[in-house]
Amino acid sequence: MLWNTIVESIRNCNKCMLHKSRTKPVPGEGNLDAVILFIGEAPGRQEDLSGRPFVGQAGKLLEVLLRSIGLRREEVFITNVVKCRPPNNRDPKEEEVRACSVHTQAIIRLIKPKVIVTLGNHSGKYVFSVLGGREWMSVSRMRGRIYELELRNLGKVLVIPTYHPAAALYNPKVRPALEKDFSLIVEAQERLAKIEESTAKGKPKSLLDFLRSKQ
Ligand code: SF4
Repeated sequence: MLWNTIVESIRNCNKCMLHKSRTKPVPGEGNLDAVILFIGEAPGRQEDLSGRPFVGQAGKLLEVLLRSIGLRREEVFITNVVKCRPPNNRDPKEEEVRACSVHTQAIIRLIKPKVIVTLGNHSGKYVFSVLGGREWMSVSRMRGRIYELELRNLGKVLVIPTYHPAAALYNPKVRPALEKDFSLIVEAQERLAKIEESTAKGKPKSLLDFLRSKQ
């Protein structure tokens, strides 16, 4: 499916009640060939007005965290588990996340990321439980490591669960953990680069299936 088709289907979507409260849907943005996909929770006020993800304070922090590992936001792709703003910035409901899954899966299928970074509890729960069929506990219990997941109908990816940047704005004590988890993105890239190198030399390693080229 083409990106424009996905955007159009989100724009016309009324699969959950959030379509009633949105100003603009927020499909996501970034590099359509990105290796790394970030999945956050839901658009906030600024995102709802602009139609762009992560444009408020949390977005600024995300950009700082990306820069700290040598990445720009244009190089990655950023979306959310729900594409329309919940009223009063409440948490997205499970049924809304599931209703929006058709769009999230279409985005994953288009981007074909090798690394998915989940930002926050709803995103982690969605990727692990709904797509990965794996148990999800909480961000604080799951974060701090790289997981290899087989996502339903979407193939294998490395997944790094971490806090939503907004959590670090409310509670500065979260920030060191967030920074540590972003350093895992570098580790994941290095892991992938090593496998690519050994594959190029004709010495495939056990994680070879992670390296299949974008289909
Ligand atoms: S949040 Fe997702 S499922 Fe709900 S109306 Fe918006 S695009 Fe559709």
